[in-house]
Amino acid sequence: MAPDPRIDPAFRDLPLDALADAALSRARELGAQHADVRVERIVSQSISLRDGSVTGVSDSTSVGLAVRVVVDGVWGFASHVELTPLRAAETAAQAVGVARTLAPVARERVERADEPVHVGEWVSAYEVDPFVVPTREKVELLSEWSQRLLAADGVDHVQASVSQVRENKFYADLAGTRTVQQRVRIEPGFTATAVDRAAGGFETMSTLAPPAGRGWEYATGTGWDWDGELAAIPELLAEKTKAPSVQAGPTDLVIDPTNLWLTIHESIGHATEYDRAIGYEAAYAGTSFATPDKLGALRYGSPIMHVTGDRTVEHGLATVGFDDDGVETTEWDLVRDGVLVGYQLDRTFAPRLGLERSNGCAFADSPHHVPIQRMANVSLQPDPEHDTTVEDLIGRVERGIYVVGDKSWSIDMQRYNFQFTGQRFYRIEDGRLAGQLRDVAYQATTTDFWGSMEAVGGPSSWRLGGAMNCGKAQPGQIAPVSHGCPPALFRGVNVLNTQEEAS
Ligand SMILES: [Zn+2]
Repeated sequence: MAPDPRIDPAFRDLPLDALADAALSRARELGAQHADVRVERIVSQSISLRDGSVTGVSDSTSVGLAVRVVVDGVWGFASHVELTPLRAAETAAQAVGVARTLAPVARERVERADEPVHVGEWVSAYEVDPFVVPTREKVELLSEWSQRLLAADGVDHVQASVSQVRENKFYADLAGTRTVQQRVRIEPGFTATAVDRAAGGFETMSTLAPPAGRGWEYATGTGWDWDGELAAIPELLAEKTKAPSVQAGPTDLVIDPTNLWLTIHESIGHATEYDRAIGYEAAYAGTSFATPDKLGALRYGSPIMHVTGDRTVEHGLATVGFDDDGVETTEWDLVRDGVLVGYQLDRTFAPRLGLERSNGCAFADSPHHVPIQRMANVSLQPDPEHDTTVEDLIGRVERGIYVVGDKSWSIDMQRYNFQFTGQRFYRIEDGRLAGQLRDVAYQATTTDFWGSMEAVGGPSSWRLGGAMNCGKAQPGQIAPVSHGCPPALFRGVNVLNTQEEAS
């Protein structure tokens, strides 16, 4: 393979092939039918400031090797922090030992979908590795953002932060697949607070910038207009503090991609995880109403609803070249013409659904955790025929609300009844925005909500949102994931007044 010069030399200098050879040959000698080795190094940094002063800088590095085996149809797993061939062989023996110990109690035999052998390297789409930028320079940028906001009328406090991760993974298995990968992600952000001393309350407004599979260039203006947003926030916050409280009731909503991504995450992303749908994964965030007996039949939403899973979209947080099963990543349909047609799978779940290949959703967040099925980038597709804009959608509403930015959410354990708030809410009157509203939440069941979707924006209105740390499984694992969507128009969604609900 041609070595990719962007891959961190310090990772490449690890004895990757020697570790793999030692572990795989030992596993084979001991009777494993399948064995894979991951060598990982995950470097993270978080910086946070309050009112321009640094309140925290944390750096962490997680290094290790993991060996996973299948012996007589039973999984075994072991990991170690020491990266020597001797330790790799011992770890393989330990994994085989785990499988043999578990054999008498294992209720089912592992069957895995086939996958072609891959040898290659993959690096995510970024320009500047955040870990080559001095911490001082990052603090200066966040401090400068904070000062700009604090200098504006009506802003009393500012929190600013940036989280960054660089993830290196080496994977090798007995079938012959051997891959080296590097991906980078970043989440810069800020929140401005206005304190109302007379009334004893406060109001906040945060950036709408999503975390992204990008490098430091994102914080300095590639892919997001920080200058424009920093200049606009104080006035938007002041307007929000004086905005009237919403009147509850069924309301037409135009939902911006900056808000809709989270609704997609909770009501489609988690609901189409196959392990949840079959009740295999239930502990952390419940199961799913979208069970496999409904595949091809469940009306998830209106006929214009087209939702895909992918681990390939540029700058996507779940995007990678090969998953932790050694599967080359891809894109597929989850909901087509409003009907449930697919799930997120790994190599053990694909055969249960009668599929010959996995769609590449195996992921472990650490060399010391076993890979599980984790979320792909789950995205609502735009209208392929009309390049409808958000203004066009707002123009179709006589009286309604335009919802911008995510804030809080709740959803039940079957991913069915939910409630979402947002950063900003604009009254729509006769097809035009007519000032902000406060205290808005929208509430629905998953199928009613998506069933009420009348129109979606076109290709040029499509945006990626996402989260750095989606949680799943026990022991808990985190995963980064993006969700793309256009703005969309929903008719007659139940709107709550959060002040009235709270009192
Ligand atoms: Zn999640």
